[in-house]
Amino acid sequence: MLYKIKRFIDCHVPVNLCNFQCDYCTVGQWRAIDGKGPEKYTLFKYPVEQMAAGLSKERMGGICSINLCGNGETFLHPQLLELVELLLKDGHFVSIVTNGTVTKSLEYLYNLDYEMRSRIFLKFSFHYIELKKKNLLEKYFRNVHNAHKAGLSLTVELVASDSNVALIDEIKQVCMKEFGVLCHLTDPRANTTNDIRHLTEMPMDEHIKVWSQFESALFDYRQATWGQNRKAHFCYGGVWSFNLDLGTGRLKQCYRDAKTVQYIFENVEEPIHFVPRGHFCSLPHCFNSHVFDCHAGAVPDIKSPEYIELRNRVLPDGTEWVKEPYKTIYSVKVCENHKQYTEPEKIFADAMMALSSGIEPPVEFKAVFEAYLSDISINKKIELYEDNEFTKWLKDNISDKFFGKENNERIIIVTSFSDFAQIKPQIEKETDAEIVSIVDIPYLS
Ligand code: SF4
Ligand code: SF4
Repeated sequence: MLYKIKRFIDCHVPVNLCNFQCDYCTVGQWRAIDGKGPEKYTLFKYPVEQMAAGLSKERMGGICSINLCGNGETFLHPQLLELVELLLKDGHFVSIVTNGTVTKSLEYLYNLDYEMRSRIFLKFSFHYIELKKKNLLEKYFRNVHNAHKAGLSLTVELVASDSNVALIDEIKQVCMKEFGVLCHLTDPRANTTNDIRHLTEMPMDEHIKVWSQFESALFDYRQATWGQNRKAHFCYGGVWSFNLDLGTGRLKQCYRDAKTVQYIFENVEEPIHFVPRGHFCSLPHCFNSHVFDCHAGAVPDIKSPEYIELRNRVLPDGTEWVKEPYKTIYSVKVCENHKQYTEPEKIFADAMMALSSGIEPPVEFKAVFEAYLSDISINKKIELYEDNEFTKWLKDNISDKFFGKENNERIIIVTSFSDFAQIKPQIEKETDAEIVSIVDIPYLS
């Protein structure tokens, strides 16, 4: 069977609980350690069946690669497995980030039918110091081996932290003994700082030299893209890749200040109105370049290796951590399953980002927008729904000939695109006019 991944969705699982206390904890569990943090976990706001319907392959336009990661140990969220099973039943690929110690949850996955579990990828984070301290190394390796035997795809990933440096020789020996290969490496980063800097006290050249002995393409790619902002590039985050909060259903283009695309678990009948980040990535470097570039190809003009190179290892017995069908989907980028935008579509998308942020849009936008309106408004008049700065700019700059209420045939354009799915039912009660989100204008004619 030929699988084509339509979108990559990185999901935040609302769990802060963890049985470990790693010194470099990059996902925020540390906030809960001293008792000042948030609740241990938050139950999903919507029933899991509704969440799965919100993420259905019909609504997404095809099969998705869905990654699940908590702010603590992902498997400690009590509703996680139910959701995973529903997503797999719908045909999606599901990857889960875990510290590899919640055996009961892992065993639940091994008992799914073979085809379904072949669409599971486990990212076994290798927290060596904690595993050793808590006498859990044996259990951890048993879980990795059992996942491999059960036909799941996996990778083993160590954090290249300063605290692990003194243990490098020991860690290498353990990896060779247990797997016959070395683990991959990720670089810890200061997630909450503006510069998203490296979390190392070592000089960078020394840090890179020390860790390059693991020959991890994952580590190498992170270094290659670190510190390079994406302002000159058009990013399709919001169309091909996303960040989704499973607690609330808020689908965003990316992390931090990226725009909300839609609250997708409410009003699941409403199609998703995709809107790309375009030239508006505000981060000092791509937050997770290894997956957004190498798996999603979210910025297609940036060349990157295939994701499989960053995740796989071939074991001495010839078996591989990444198996089919993951081998296939990690060898083709999501962007290869899409057409890129035309120049007018890019200008339009950039204008959506600009106007929704109170910034002047590209100079070409007026002409582009009027051309789209000419295509769709023959015998129809446009009405703008809300009173906001976005609408004001359009009223002040777009030709009056497109606007009017007097004609029966009307198209009502909603400029608050993130809230369109909630606003539309309210307008529908008052009118039978066609109601559209502004982000869909280029695709209406
Ligand atoms: S296992 Fe993960 S979530 Fe738990 S403390 Fe370590 S890094 Fe943080
Ligand atoms: S370039 Fe990377 S960090 Fe920036 S918006 Fe795109 S996916 Fe997100």
